[in-house]
Amino acid sequence: MKKLIKNGTIVTATDQYEADILIEDEKVAAIGVNLNEQADEVIDAQGAYIFPGGIDPHTHLDMPFGGTMTADDYETGTIAAAHGGTTSIVDFCLTEKGQPLQKSIDKWHEKANGKAVIDYGFHLQLLEATENTLKELPAIVKDGITSFKVFMAYKNVFQADDETLYKALLTAKEEGALVMVHAENGDVIDHLVKEALANGNTDPIYHALTRPPEVEGEATGRAAQLTGLADSQLYVVHVSCQEAIEKIAEAREKGFRVYGETCHQYVTLDVSHLDQPNFEGAKYVWSPPLRDKKNHELIWKAIQNGTLQTIGSDQCSFNFKGQKDLGIDDFTKIPNGGPLIEDRFSIMFSEGVRKGRISINQFVDLVSTRTAKLFGMFPKKGTIAVGSDADIVIFDPNAERTISAETHHMNVDYNPFEGMKVTGEPISVLSRGEFVIREKEFVGKPGRGQFMKRKRFNEDAVIETATAK
Ligand SMILES: [Zn+2]
Repeated sequence: MKKLIKNGTIVTATDQYEADILIEDEKVAAIGVNLNEQADEVIDAQGAYIFPGGIDPHTHLDMPFGGTMTADDYETGTIAAAHGGTTSIVDFCLTEKGQPLQKSIDKWHEKANGKAVIDYGFHLQLLEATENTLKELPAIVKDGITSFKVFMAYKNVFQADDETLYKALLTAKEEGALVMVHAENGDVIDHLVKEALANGNTDPIYHALTRPPEVEGEATGRAAQLTGLADSQLYVVHVSCQEAIEKIAEAREKGFRVYGETCHQYVTLDVSHLDQPNFEGAKYVWSPPLRDKKNHELIWKAIQNGTLQTIGSDQCSFNFKGQKDLGIDDFTKIPNGGPLIEDRFSIMFSEGVRKGRISINQFVDLVSTRTAKLFGMFPKKGTIAVGSDADIVIFDPNAERTISAETHHMNVDYNPFEGMKVTGEPISVLSRGEFVIREKEFVGKPGRGQFMKRKRFNEDAVIETATAK
């Protein structure tokens, strides 16, 4: 099966040029000017950008949290992702204390099997570093799960201690894996939460007030120092504030292999969203919390200068009615997370490229290429090159759209960006040479998505970001 995409402008993390793309089965077979190859189908992409498919390094699909399950599973979550221009995700596999890690991995494979419409990989959560869990890791890395997640927050739920973090870093160095941290000081948060509840402070805004930026900065600095000590590598997920950015910049200046991710919500929404009447603030309860608006430009600056290198969504959706309202009398019972998987690509293009904050190549690097490099998927994923998977977004840079729960594809009853106008929209999306979205309609098949066996972490593959445009 051959497809020919003609007349588009190909944009990668480094280049922008007009050329045709020949796709043969799942791969890019040729790129050239006026390709005249016989194809089964010719797609006219006049006026469109041709981007490599987006890669979302941070999703939680079909995940239990706070006595409920996320509203989106592997089917609805990946369909929404595809609509938004994302063709690969790396989802977090949660594990259980005292249980074999492989058992949790098997469970996550079952969640995705028969449902995913785009390709997916797993990060493995490490709750404890016992002799048994550490023994399992080499085989798991060999099977293509080459990143470990350690939570420094959510005391008595997900939180791991510093010994676990340190041992994870040592093992990661040994095995060629990347350690990811949710960096917030869970012990201090626990104290602040108890204090707030004792004072009768139960509204959603107290979620933010009990997790101040200092606890994120402190945990980020601690994880970075331990990474330096272990001579290992660290990826800090969902960086939300200046306090954490400073610690990452400091670590990188010392030559530590410390990388940072932020999310589109941290450059567009702010803490005032949690402070709304009628419990509306619960729609914006996730961790780290939304911050003071002044952080927006500071995060953009960190993106521009390469301190932060990727954009994740931190998709973790719960309905407002029936799920978020579990916490109507107590903010600690609001399930943490939001429906964020769908608009990551469009918002970063609109707010980043259209508003002149980043170049179009930086955009591709942030939403796709850098993640592929950091997490062992490059160059199969994350670029458009001969031999790479034909994961392709045909993107209209001038289309205007208003984000709304009325029109989104996530299985959830609200959208945190409701009413926001974005310019630029994915029109058609191919995953391994197959249309999953065609003229904005979903045409894929649940179960067609494949598990991505990722390569080991390789520092040489992680080339420095091109700095500000
Ligand atoms: Zn997360």
